[in-house]
Amino acid sequence: MKISCKEFELELKHPFSISKFTRTSTPILLLKLSYEGVTGYGEASMVPYMGESHATASEFLAKIDWSRFRHPFNFGEIHQYLNEVAPGNPAVKAAIDIALNDINGKILQLSCAEIYGADPSLMPITSYTIGIDSPEVIKEKVADAVGFKVLKIKLGRDNDKELISTIRSVSDLPLYVDANQGWSDRKQAIEMCYWLHDQGVLLIEQPMDKNNLDGNAWLTQRSPIPIIADEALQRIGDLEHLKGAYHGINIKLMKSAGMYEAHQMILKARSFGMKILIGCMSETSIATLAGAALAPLCDWADLDGPWLTKNNPFEHPEMKDGKYVLNNLPGLGLKGGNDLIFEDC
Ligand code: MG
Repeated sequence: MKISCKEFELELKHPFSISKFTRTSTPILLLKLSYEGVTGYGEASMVPYMGESHATASEFLAKIDWSRFRHPFNFGEIHQYLNEVAPGNPAVKAAIDIALNDINGKILQLSCAEIYGADPSLMPITSYTIGIDSPEVIKEKVADAVGFKVLKIKLGRDNDKELISTIRSVSDLPLYVDANQGWSDRKQAIEMCYWLHDQGVLLIEQPMDKNNLDGNAWLTQRSPIPIIADEALQRIGDLEHLKGAYHGINIKLMKSAGMYEAHQMILKARSFGMKILIGCMSETSIATLAGAALAPLCDWADLDGPWLTKNNPFEHPEMKDGKYVLNNLPGLGLKGGNDLIFEDC
């Protein structure tokens, strides 16, 4: 197994602001693995609040004994090994997992979707995320969402209704809402759920604090709109605990350490009768194509990474009628990025 890396800053189209600081880019580690002449690409998107960085990624990679990857498609064994190396670092583990899945598909001459039994004709529409901003900028962002059939709105401040009304003044597209743990009062929260229902909102992500299981469960029992766990769910081990407390979960490859565990989570969530949203961080085409390969197994998709950023170094994924169109190439179906220079990790 040969491994090389490229550290990259993925620039956001709109700066992301919360109270005292503004983020204009996301550190990304692009990973290239070669096995018996076949090359696979992986990606770690390391948004600062998740605690990973270029430094923690190289520290983790330095600990890996690559001779353990003689049979690189025994995903269960590989993930067990990676979790023994260190318990955290899900994004850099995702980069390794995605690259191995890409190689696996290329060797088998199957797309990753085919390998996971995902039928491209069941691809859900993907949403376009509108972050918290001034009404003028929000209107600009809505205008940028050309081709998208659903918008995802970040809420959780005291002007939630105003924000939705701003969107509604310029768009009648269906909406997903992400409250990002911003609601704390049950009565206000349930009233909001009914109001949002009337506004054409189809799902609500993480209304209350991730540790407030009772509050979120109370809302789930009463809400006319599905309540989805995001921050409350990281790895597959968290899922059992959330059964019955949420209608569904938001799976992101950067939380689940890649495609293998995301697929396991999909199967487990289905066995609990839960709905599934597959989401993303600020990501290039690599990680969003990996998410798209699993998306037909899910109810909703939020794989807008390449459209919210300015310098995706690969060809943009193809989208038609608001849905990813998988190109059926073996592996991830990634194109472009040929001028990127990878170096030893
Ligand atoms: Mg969220």
